[in-house]
Amino acid sequence: MLSGDGQRTWPIDWEERRKGVGCVACADGRPDRIPNGRRFFSGQVADAYLVSTSRPRGYSIVTWRGRHVAEITELTPTEAGSFLAELTAVCRAVEAVYRPVKLNLMALGNGLPHLHFHVVPRYADDPDPQRPPRFLLSDDELPSIGEEEFAADLASLRGMLGGQQVRSAAAANLRRPIPIVVVTGPPASGKSTLAATIATRLSLPLIAKDGIKERLYEAFGSGDRDWSRWLGRGTYPLIYHFLEIELRAGRSVVVEGTFGPESADAEFAAEHERYPFEALQLYCFAPDDVLLTRYEARAPDRHPGHVDGSITDEVRVQLQANRWRPLSLPGRLVEVDTSSFEALDVDGVVALAAAHVATAEG
Ligand SMILES: [Zn+2]
Repeated sequence: MLSGDGQRTWPIDWEERRKGVGCVACADGRPDRIPNGRRFFSGQVADAYLVSTSRPRGYSIVTWRGRHVAEITELTPTEAGSFLAELTAVCRAVEAVYRPVKLNLMALGNGLPHLHFHVVPRYADDPDPQRPPRFLLSDDELPSIGEEEFAADLASLRGMLGGQQVRSAAAANLRRPIPIVVVTGPPASGKSTLAATIATRLSLPLIAKDGIKERLYEAFGSGDRDWSRWLGRGTYPLIYHFLEIELRAGRSVVVEGTFGPESADAEFAAEHERYPFEALQLYCFAPDDVLLTRYEARAPDRHPGHVDGSITDEVRVQLQANRWRPLSLPGRLVEVDTSSFEALDVDGVVALAAAHVATAEG
């Protein structure tokens, strides 16, 4: 949306930067120093830095240290609660050390769109007490504080925060990996039925390969094997995308697909880096001849887009090459023998998944 004379004034790459592309704060991790500042508090979700300026003394920056977000509105309620708790603790320490007559808090981020607050003490002799802190509008360099005084201030702030454990239950939960259930294995190993049963019985969201793939066939049409493969390329990126949506919201989920470790291990690892999870991996397996017989038998009942009938030989080759092995995921691997669906202890597997997901609570 534009207001004013209609000329866009923001940098061309602004939207990308807002999303975190090239974000310096994310790239730096949680350093002890930032330009002109040194850390005096390191909490569960935030770091606080004292800026080495003599005016206004005590000017601090509190930076969110979770995944990249530009606005506070992108935090979940749990995250926002934890962040606010730590921000408040830092503000109390600044008040206690500097005794300002007012504190100003500002989340600006127009230069560095990674969530952080400027905490500015306003003093009794403020030259312009009714206005926002003027120095933030100026390009002038801030007057620097002496090294000794700076060290003393840091020590005072750390002392104020050191005795105080800023640890809400919410903050502790935030770091706990989210339990998820990953159902994988070769084609026709009974994954999708098992995954759907677990999701239904535990009231969990289900991200299933076929559900996505068949929507793509419906949107773009069915075709031959090449077409099916081409369209299938869109399936897995969407699976990971939906997984990320659930993890970001802190929700457990059932994910089902014919994952091959060659690419899936790296994809899940990248996701785990962003949103730590703990997987219960249910690897469905059966002898190759059982899988192939099943595969051919079910072909007529499946969405025609799958072109299953014409690729049995391809599946045979991949089975022989052991293409669909268990994944290397953080968490627990359980191999589920689906040679006989009648003999399969579905209740037992659901109970296992229920116990796994329950680790998120309490
Ligand atoms: Zn960032």
